[in-house]
Amino acid sequence: MGNGRPKVVIIGGGFGGLFCARRLGRLDVDVTLLDRAACHVFQPLLYQCATGTLSIGQISRSLREELAHHRNVTTLLGEAIRLDADARRVTARRPDETMFEIDYDYLVIAAGMRQSYFGKEEFAAWAPGMKTLDDALSIRRRVFAAFEIAETLPPGPERDEWLTFAVAGAGPTGVELAGQIRELATRALAKEFHSIEPEEARVLLFDGGDRVLKSFAPALTERATRELEKLGVEMHLGVHVSDVRRGGVTVSSKSGGPDKDYATRTVLWTAGVEAVPFARHAAEVLGAGTDRSGRIAVGADLSVAGHSTVFVIGDLAGRDGLPGVAENAMQGGLHVAACIKRDLDARNRKNFRYRDLGSAAYISRGHALLQAGPIKLTGIAGWLGWGFIHIAFLTGVRNRFSTVATWMASIARANRSDRTFILGGSGHPDEPYTWQSPVHQGREEPTETGRRDQNAG
Ligand SMILES: Cc1cc2nc3c(=O)[nH]c(=O)nc-3n(C[C@H](O)[C@H](O)[C@H](O)COP(=O)(O)OP(=O)(O)OC[C@H]3O[C@@H](n4cnc5c(N)ncnc54)[C@H](O)[C@@H]3O)c2cc1C
Repeated sequence: MGNGRPKVVIIGGGFGGLFCARRLGRLDVDVTLLDRAACHVFQPLLYQCATGTLSIGQISRSLREELAHHRNVTTLLGEAIRLDADARRVTARRPDETMFEIDYDYLVIAAGMRQSYFGKEEFAAWAPGMKTLDDALSIRRRVFAAFEIAETLPPGPERDEWLTFAVAGAGPTGVELAGQIRELATRALAKEFHSIEPEEARVLLFDGGDRVLKSFAPALTERATRELEKLGVEMHLGVHVSDVRRGGVTVSSKSGGPDKDYATRTVLWTAGVEAVPFARHAAEVLGAGTDRSGRIAVGADLSVAGHSTVFVIGDLAGRDGLPGVAENAMQGGLHVAACIKRDLDARNRKNFRYRDLGSAAYISRGHALLQAGPIKLTGIAGWLGWGFIHIAFLTGVRNRFSTVATWMASIARANRSDRTFILGGSGHPDEPYTWQSPVHQGREEPTETGRRDQNAG
């Protein structure tokens, strides 16, 4: 472990990395927390940021500020891109593309997952996912701009396209987004336009399963389905989105039958996740197994087989029964800190035991699902429980107070106070406000032929 204190490097300042760093902040170790975004994002409220209720500042906090009082914790901005397991060294890239290296005695990989397009990366140009603050702002721009553009068009098919919103994936994020867009259209925007009727906006929700919110008990999802119907969300189940393009989506039925096209200018993608690129590289270097989505196989103490000082936690930890939820990441972070402490005390490590504290999903104003062991709540009770849990885990006291105040104001006045969107302008292909840029993440927009090929496949 070198001459000084053990050096712990944590990659990722999400729920897992942050909880691990905070606990290690009390130990006799030197911690470096590396994150490519330099802030902790409270992902469960990203959709509220995307639909104009909360600001990005309310759902995120600078890691440097958050960990300032832990003198043994250094936070660094950089993206881990290479791992040398023999030299125990991580190479990271600064935003200006230059590199730096960090040595470790212990490595904690907590880099999370990213949106997966199931190999059809070209969809990303038209259908942003929902994992980062950039995603939330991109969705906000598309949703609010769609209403604005529709207002300038005469009645007809083109206007209808702008007033149609498609959401792929009916898990919690897809349901929350779909519900929020309808709520936005029928409440906050309802009386603000002169040419269009925002209430007429169609929200289409597509999923391959036979019910929405599959991770919840059937009785809860039945209730959620009724609420979504009341809101006006059009649910299409047993289908998958087989093509996404500038002017619409194609949907294929899982039980056969002809494909169906829907004309829409706004497509949002919440259908799947996969490991971030660094995780795939790290698994290869460490000789660790991965599952189909790239989660890294870990032992009972969350370390990688053959590398007892390398841990994987949170969404990336591939072990039976560990769900991709914030609780798993937080508990994993605390567990790894405890393992390191036990190593320092020359005591045996304990195995990680995940305690399922339940899950919640927001449906609409006054309605949420809450499921924790035998407790199953819907309606107002679920909504209050949902609100309490989210506030309890939101990072930063100031964020908690301001979020509660914003919620109260938006309940009382049906307004959305954070609707500002910017029009891009940096020339970066990830900011295609006008959707004119054919290139996204280095990929060409699919040609008509390419699309037909995909459909045929
Ligand atoms: C929209 C949405 C809603 C959700 N709602 C809920 C909910 O209601 N309840 C719930 O329990 N869970 C929810 N989840 C899931 C929950 O947010 C995740 O399970 C949790 O964030 C996982 O924590 P993590 O630490 O593993 O990864 P993350 O929180 O994703 O953090 C990963 C961090 O790693 C950083 N990073 C990635 N790659 C690199 C790299 N190469 N170098 C440096 N840094 C890197 C990222 O910037 C990020 O900060 C939701 C997720 C999303 C996306």
